[in-house]
Amino acid sequence: MIIRYTQSRERCAEVLRAALGHIGQHEACCNPVTFSVWYEYAAGMNAGLSQAIDACLRAKARLGDEAMLRLHREHVADPDLDAVQQINTEMQRVMSGVAANASRTGDSAGSFGAQIDKLAVALAQAASGDLPALLSGASAGAQAMKGSTAALVQQIREGQIEIERLRTDLVRARDEVLLDPLTGVLNRRGFDKRLAALVRQPARDGLSHNLVMIDIDHFKRVNDTHGHVIGDQVIRGLAELLRRSVPDGEHCVARYGGEEFALLLPDTAAVEGMRLADAVRKQVGAMKIRDRRTQQVLTQVTISAGVATLAPDDDPINWIARADAALYRSKQAGRNRVMC
Ligand code: GH3
Ligand code: MG
Ligand code: MG
Repeated sequence: MIIRYTQSRERCAEVLRAALGHIGQHEACCNPVTFSVWYEYAAGMNAGLSQAIDACLRAKARLGDEAMLRLHREHVADPDLDAVQQINTEMQRVMSGVAANASRTGDSAGSFGAQIDKLAVALAQAASGDLPALLSGASAGAQAMKGSTAALVQQIREGQIEIERLRTDLVRARDEVLLDPLTGVLNRRGFDKRLAALVRQPARDGLSHNLVMIDIDHFKRVNDTHGHVIGDQVIRGLAELLRRSVPDGEHCVARYGGEEFALLLPDTAAVEGMRLADAVRKQVGAMKIRDRRTQQVLTQVTISAGVATLAPDDDPINWIARADAALYRSKQAGRNRVMC
């Protein structure tokens, strides 16, 4: 059981039914974010969240994905997951120690049993009376001790597996908080975290950290002409293209907001940032957004981009501001271009 959720099995089932009732009445997709928000609300276990939702309900708001994400971020997501993970790792270490100890105890009880066995044989040869029977009894006792210790070791191993499972859940929960639900790339929070880490990390010799800010041109028109569903499809398509264009695990793609994306390119040559951004720009120009059913081409879009290389005295804010300024110049110069 996760410590946050201490309800009994029966109570959990009740809360689940109530949560499903709420989910059915609102627009948000039934994903883990939505579920945990409604679960905690239905369980009455999160006062801040209940107040926030009650205010929305009083205003007769129908709660969609954005609202769920906000409620989750503000009231459910653990503000200090690193600390929880630290505790978890610590727990794992302690359990490993206990298991190793118990296992050693089992082994020593086993060899104790063998010693007494030998003793019993020796005494049976040398003497008569109750002594051998007593010693056999002692040997059986030692065997029983080994058996119960083995059960303990088994129990502890199962506990370790359970802890490992919880740890995986925790890592996944933390990753979800950093990802954009529409596109699966890093969200703003994930981006800010990576960017801040990169600002502190010196670039490798002769290379630099580069940031590309990308914005879809005239995107409002796409929404106005084809509706938000197609608009979302364009955003997802661009995210997918960016993900494919960005080379390895070190580099990353983030949705900075709305129809704006950012690429973080650690340890790259400054020209490489420009080259990559321009290659992406060309590919986006060739990308066709089709009707899922008829495959008819509905629209095409272009992007503008701005590239900035991290300078030694930059902080996250002015690094982003310089990339943004370059993006703004691309827009001013007629869009569908990259500037640095
Ligand atoms: P510009 O070339 O100057 O960037 O023009 P633009 O129309 O792209 O820029 P503007 O900032 O005026 O409009 C951005 C639009 O993006 C407005 C907003 O409705 C839309 N948008 C933001 N987020 C989303 C989203 O998640 N889905 C959809 N479909 N549209 C979004
Ligand atoms: Mg924009
Ligand atoms: Mg735009």
